[in-house]
Amino acid sequence: MTTTKNLILNNINKRSKINDQSKNKKQTLFQCCFGAKQLKKITNKKNKNNKSKKKNASLSKHYENIEENIQLYLLSSQLEADKGKKTLVLDLDETLVHSSFDPIGNADFTVQVTIGNENHQVYVKKRPNADFFLQRLGNLYEIIIFTASDPRYANQVIDRIDTSNIVKARLFRDDCVQHFSFFVKDLSLLGRDLKSTIIVDNSPVSYLFHKENAIPIKTWIDDPNDDELLKCFQLLERILPLQNVIHALSSLQK
Ligand SMILES: [Mg+2]
Repeated sequence: MTTTKNLILNNINKRSKINDQSKNKKQTLFQCCFGAKQLKKITNKKNKNNKSKKKNASLSKHYENIEENIQLYLLSSQLEADKGKKTLVLDLDETLVHSSFDPIGNADFTVQVTIGNENHQVYVKKRPNADFFLQRLGNLYEIIIFTASDPRYANQVIDRIDTSNIVKARLFRDDCVQHFSFFVKDLSLLGRDLKSTIIVDNSPVSYLFHKENAIPIKTWIDDPNDDELLKCFQLLERILPLQNVIHALSSLQK
């Protein structure tokens, strides 16, 4: 059976292709492989050779310390307030908001994005019930926003829609896995139990590797009568007490 750690190692090459900005993350992941392999080697050696037991114990401790300090996953441990909660991974564009460089008459807010030497104004409209959806689910789930967008834009939008600090972590394009020309959000890299992790995303390619964890949601542009987030909230309320979200989604979405 493939372990989560193996999945991470298998994805290193895919992640390394994304772009130059991910150099630091590539370096972190390479160190993670090195630390894990060395630790295993040392543990086996300890069992075979008692004479060098003391030396190996010292080395093993050394690599354990290295491993503890290496971030294996995209997310840190759950905050104390969220311990034991299921994790809800939310997409941003066309799931919670719609943004446009062209003026939107009834935009909720605008953000300024600098591309090259030029400043651009981006008009942002929140999906109907987005505030309710985040506020209510923020108490029930550990909320993560995972977007394939550029953080220079996405961070500003999240700041505006999450004024109560409900979102516990933000992941961006560099955190995606490049699969052919697509950006895939690989849930196995999060560092969360997949039986307790759900992704809500309007783009099926985003959850290509974990369809069984997904709640598909219609793409939203400007329909003022859209009630998809309300429906999604009701489904998430029903899933909350159930142990395995994969089984729950499979039965409740039929
Ligand atoms: Mg989207």
